[in-house]
Amino acid sequence: MGGITLQFNPARMVSSGAKVDKATIAKRPCFLCEKNRPEVQIVKPFDEEFEILINPFPILPIHFTIPSRTHQLQKIKQSYAKIHRLLELYPEFMVFYNGPKCGASAPDHLHLQAGSKGLLPIQQQWKQLANHLETWVSYGEGEQIALVKDFVFPAIVLQSKSEAIHCAMFNRLYDALPMQQDDIEPMMNIVAWKEEDAYVSVVFPRRKHRPTCYSAEGKAQYMISPGALDMGGLLILPRQEDFDRLTKTKVLEIMSEIILTPTQIDEVKKKIVLGVKGQL
Ligand SMILES: [Zn+2]
Repeated sequence: MGGITLQFNPARMVSSGAKVDKATIAKRPCFLCEKNRPEVQIVKPFDEEFEILINPFPILPIHFTIPSRTHQLQKIKQSYAKIHRLLELYPEFMVFYNGPKCGASAPDHLHLQAGSKGLLPIQQQWKQLANHLETWVSYGEGEQIALVKDFVFPAIVLQSKSEAIHCAMFNRLYDALPMQQDDIEPMMNIVAWKEEDAYVSVVFPRRKHRPTCYSAEGKAQYMISPGALDMGGLLILPRQEDFDRLTKTKVLEIMSEIILTPTQIDEVKKKIVLGVKGQL
């Protein structure tokens, strides 16, 4: 489907259909907290702050959830370096992040995810996409913040070789992204992986959590609740009927509601190039 792959995955109804409003979240026991995990859960320690769990509802053949050891809000800025360190340690995987209002099924418990690399359309097309980047800021040989021009959804890539530069780039981008009222961070999804000696981190800025068709009724309803993998071109559909009837045009129409407009992307670019702190 021209840059997009559809995956029919009924097991994901649990997550795509999940209520993530504050009241529901406050009432349920947090499934990422150690005390609420099933006994069979296999845990691999990562560092003093995070650990690695096998995801019970996988989208990818290998799919891990990497929660913080303490119960705290889903927020990326202070923990962004973990993405780099995970890739350093496990270069065979990709690491991804869903913002609290961008697909995270536990917006109240800080977590990253990791899984098989090379299955997302953005990774499969990367060689071509990397040839048509629009450089915004260059940090050195092969290190830059750039716009991915040819992908189906607006994406900004951070290409780096060291943790320090990688984090500096992320902070610069973070400060330039639009911040909405009452949000605790700019809306975004992140997909990051290693390409030979370089770290590739693709940030998908967002302006909406779920498209209107998600809560529509009858034929107008499409159960699409986009997270990082959807933004990377692998659209997860928990209902067979959506899988059967979706066309690329319809996907683009639905997704246009939740991604930044070209004007907003232009604003982000201006702030990044000028190095100014982002304010909406
Ligand atoms: Zn928790």
